[in-house]
Amino acid sequence: MRCIYCRDRSGFIRKTCRVCACVLAIVERDAGMLGWTELVDRFALEGLSREQVNRVLDAEIGEAPTLRDQLTSRMANVLMRGLGMPGRQSPEDVRRVRLGMAAGEGEGGWTPAEKSSGTS
Ligand SMILES: [Zn+2]
Repeated sequence: MRCIYCRDRSGFIRKTCRVCACVLAIVERDAGMLGWTELVDRFALEGLSREQVNRVLDAEIGEAPTLRDQLTSRMANVLMRGLGMPGRQSPEDVRRVRLGMAAGEGEGGWTPAEKSSGTS
């Protein structure tokens, strides 16, 4: 078998390799309680590189929203409810916006330029 996320060997029956399984475990345990920054810290604490994390978060498996889409929707909803708004953005919504932006349609309110550019 090969890992469904990074295509590394994962063993005979496992669909994910050890590294990707570790990323998944952190996401499942901590997402929703932690924001992106804390989550990134948690990954670093486990010795996971940004690349190892990204390939899991951004893996496109069939037509399903990526893990990053799911996290984005969950965090956006928590944020909106905190502001007293009905947070109802589904992972599918996030995926549609993302694909729309990739195609240059510019659907939705925020632009890729607003993403943190990592300047220090
Ligand atoms: Zn893997």
